[in-house]
Amino acid sequence: MSVRYLKINHEKYGYDLLALFQSFYPESSWQLVFPGCREQIIKEAENIGFFAELIFAEGDNAPAEVKFFDPDSEGEADVLKYPGGLGADLKEGFGNWIYDVLSERTNKTLPWGTLNGVRPTKLAYRQLEEGKSPEEIKEYYLKERKTSPEKALLSIEIAQREREILKDLHLTDGYSLYIGIPFCPTTCLYCSFTSYPIARFRKEVDRYIDCLLQELEFISQQMKGRFLDTVYIGGGTPTTLEPAQLDRLLSFVEEHFDMSGVSEFTVEAGRADSITEEKLKVLKGHNVTRISINPQTFNQETLDFIGRKASVQQVLDIWPVARKLGFDNINMDIILGLPGEGKEEVTRTINKIKELKPDSLTVHSLAIKRASKLSQWIIENGKEMLQNSDEVMAIASEGAEKMGLLPYYLYRQKNMSGNLENVGFASPGKFGIYNILIMEELQTIVAAGAGTVSKRVYYEDGNVSKIERCENCKEVPMYCERINEMIERKRALF
Ligand code: SF4
Repeated sequence: MSVRYLKINHEKYGYDLLALFQSFYPESSWQLVFPGCREQIIKEAENIGFFAELIFAEGDNAPAEVKFFDPDSEGEADVLKYPGGLGADLKEGFGNWIYDVLSERTNKTLPWGTLNGVRPTKLAYRQLEEGKSPEEIKEYYLKERKTSPEKALLSIEIAQREREILKDLHLTDGYSLYIGIPFCPTTCLYCSFTSYPIARFRKEVDRYIDCLLQELEFISQQMKGRFLDTVYIGGGTPTTLEPAQLDRLLSFVEEHFDMSGVSEFTVEAGRADSITEEKLKVLKGHNVTRISINPQTFNQETLDFIGRKASVQQVLDIWPVARKLGFDNINMDIILGLPGEGKEEVTRTINKIKELKPDSLTVHSLAIKRASKLSQWIIENGKEMLQNSDEVMAIASEGAEKMGLLPYYLYRQKNMSGNLENVGFASPGKFGIYNILIMEELQTIVAAGAGTVSKRVYYEDGNVSKIERCENCKEVPMYCERINEMIERKRALF
């Protein structure tokens, strides 16, 4: 895959602008070159040549220009001057201008316009809180952020639904609890999460749980008196734990936290190759209200290819067991844009899901993360086997609609195939509340376990005024060795 270099003399906005170039020219991988960049990168870029150079003059309201050296410029740099001022409105001013320039050069538009952040619905949510009408918000998305009408309407619909779902929660004075189990049966090709193959770490799991319980004990003391709204156990794959280990963890949570007002208790069972009837019984016995069983695709060939050893048959086998045990809120995750999958394969997956009737369906667009094995695979094999488009997304969203599932949360990631989004659909009453909280950043989330991040959300006059974070070490041995430090970090945050 070819590399294109973007030169910039104003590092502050560099990565936002790079993301725009990347979205218009997704066939290449992009590298930002700025003053202070590693010498080796500067040399490589100078050898190959820059695709474009962005030049900002000193000061906030100074003009700027962009020089294109790409093949369309026929040897001479194509120099374009920014007509407006540059300031705090970078995204709405200069960003919009660059968007128009790139749109004209490529003859393309982007469904999400200049919105390249993780949470495009947050703007709609905030504007609804400020009393703006859906028409005014739509106008803002179209004119100031250059999104398509469909994405603007989807954002508004989701923000309206989120407000309704969250209205009875203790956003300002309550909290949610996240517990991370960083082990999986094997590592999937596209994975960039904190996840370690359980077979290699089996001997360390008990020690990990010891440390996790130590951290949870501290959290339970620290948060005493605050209302606990949701609990989410994710990972990794929590059901890689043995039944006795799961029982130990869940018993501890029940004993140390007041679960009486919890609206949602999720365990992301995730991969079907880790789920057994015995483990599901443990979850049920501890009043877990929501689980996930994630096929990602119902095409076995793809699962084999991406190294996800959970087979289609294992999903089909465990599904009725979970239903029989009384789980009436089961989520399924699927991924669009997996290698070799197009409209036909996604249609097959959606048809199978219709037969199983999950209570919620989370549709992800494949994101290519640098830390994943997929990223290396693409360097070696190219992107040709990866295809995702609005049409493929429509197959999934129309399928969800036919199942009576409504969109209720949305987020984006960098380097998503098709420049699309992840959307959660659910039947009324089965919305994943924690998913909304993590995306809209409206409530404090205290997180325990390796690789987790806690967020303290501050309110002033009823509005979010500040968010502070603290992270735990990612590596399991380091997390265990430094557990006291993890606790001290939390003490400082709370
Ligand atoms: S199941 Fe999820 S966390 Fe585990 S390896 Fe696969 S993608 Fe990563």
